[in-house]
Amino acid sequence: MTKSRAVIVGASHAGAQLAASLRQEKWDGEIILIGNESALPYQRPPLSKAYLAGKNTLEDLAIRSAEFYAKQDIQLQDATVDAIDRPAGQLALSNGESLRYDKLALCLGARARRLPAPGADLAGVFYLRTAADVELIREAAATARRAVIVGGGYIGLETAASLRALGLDVTVLEATERVLERVTAPEVSAFFDRIHREEGVVVRTGALVQALTGDAQVREVVLTSGENISADIVIIGIGVEPNVELAAAAGLVVDNGILIDSHARTSDPDIVAAGDCASQDIARYGRRIRLESVSSAGEQAKVAAAAMCDKPKEIAALPWFWSDQYDLKLQIAGLNTGYDEVILSGDPARDRDFTCFYLRDGELIAADCVNRPRDFMFSKRVITQRTPVLREELVGQSVR
Ligand code: FAD
Repeated sequence: MTKSRAVIVGASHAGAQLAASLRQEKWDGEIILIGNESALPYQRPPLSKAYLAGKNTLEDLAIRSAEFYAKQDIQLQDATVDAIDRPAGQLALSNGESLRYDKLALCLGARARRLPAPGADLAGVFYLRTAADVELIREAAATARRAVIVGGGYIGLETAASLRALGLDVTVLEATERVLERVTAPEVSAFFDRIHREEGVVVRTGALVQALTGDAQVREVVLTSGENISADIVIIGIGVEPNVELAAAAGLVVDNGILIDSHARTSDPDIVAAGDCASQDIARYGRRIRLESVSSAGEQAKVAAAAMCDKPKEIAALPWFWSDQYDLKLQIAGLNTGYDEVILSGDPARDRDFTCFYLRDGELIAADCVNRPRDFMFSKRVITQRTPVLREELVGQSVR
C-alpha cells in the first residue's frame, strides 16, 4: 500500500517547523519539504542584522541540521512549485515533474515589495529578503561609501545599523512623517530616530523617492522635493507582498494572504497554510490579519501540522516580534492595533532602555520593550491571560 504523502511547499520558518511538527504529531507517511532557495531552511531575521554585518555564516543560520531532516525522514527537495491541480492532488514543478500529494501545506512566505520608481532596476539597487540578496549587498558594500536606505521600517533601520557597523555613511529615507510609523507609537519612533542620528545615520522623514538615476550604476536618489542624494548603493525596504498567486490560481480563497481558519486550514480541507503567506481572522483584534513574524509562522505551522493529522488545535499563542539595532534589543509583545492610550516606563527621549505599553479601553494589548526583557515577559503573560493591571504598576514596571 502506498504511504500517505504530505507535501510542504516553502522551506523556511513555517515549512521547517511544519515538517518537524508533523513527526511530533505522529504522521507516519512521507514528508516532502520543497524549497527553492537551494539551502537548508535558514533563519531569516539575522539577514538584516548579524549576517549583513558579517558576524555569522549561512551555516550558522540553519534552522535545523541536515542530520535532523534525515533522522526524521523528511525529504528536502529543491524545486519551485508552479501549479496545484486540486482535483488530481498533484503539483506541477518547474523542472517539468509532477508530484502527488495527499495533504498539502503552503508555506510560501512573502517577497520584498518593489519600488515603483524609474531607475529601480539600476545596478547597485538591492532588496533584502533572502541570504542571496544579502550576499550581493555585502559584496557591493565592501567598495561603497554612501548607502541610501529607502524605508524606515524595521528592516530599513536594522540595515542602517548593520551598514554603520561596516563603516558606511548611511541615509534613511522614510516617506511618512516618522520612522516605524505603521507599527509603533510616536514616542517609540522618536526614540529610534534619536538613536540612529546619535549613531551617525542621516534620517530623513517625509522623503518621497521620485526616481533613482545613474548610468548603469545608481548614483543618485531623486526626491519629489527635487533634492538629489548621492548613493553608491541603495537598499529598498518598503514592506513585503505575500506569495499567494499559486493558491489563488488553484481557486483557494485569498484575501491579503491565503485565508486560513483558526486550525490553519484553507478553503480546501486537504490544504493548510502557515506563515507570512497566510491571513486569518483574529477575534481579539476584531479583524483579518496577516502576521509577519517567526513566532506566528511557528505557531501556525504547529497548528497546521495537527490539522493535517486530524487532531485540530487552535492558533492561540500571542504574536510577538523582535528587532536588534546597535546594542538595543526591542521585543514586542502582542499587536497594538486599536490602542487608545500609551504608558511609558522609562524615558525614551533620554535613556537606552524603556517600555511603551499600549492599552485599549484600559486593557494592556501590546508592549514595545527596549532592553527590558523582564517587561517583555511580564507583558506577554499579562496580555495572554488578560490580567487587569493598574496604570501605576506599568509605570513602575522597571523598578519592580
Ligand atoms: P518565508 O521565510 O518568506 O519563506 C517562504 C519560502 O518559500 C521561501 O524560501 C520562498 O522562496 C519559498 N517559496 C515561495 N514560493 C515557492 C514555490 N512556489 N515553490 C517553492 N518554494 C517557494 N521576524 C521576526 O519575528 N523577527 C525579526 O527580527 C525579523 N527580522 C526580519 C529581517 C528580515 C531581513 C526579513 C526579510 C524578515 C524578518 N522577519 C522577522 C520576518 C520573518 O523572517 C518572517 O516572518 C518569516 O521568515 C516567515 O516565514 P515563512 O516560512 O512564512 O516565509
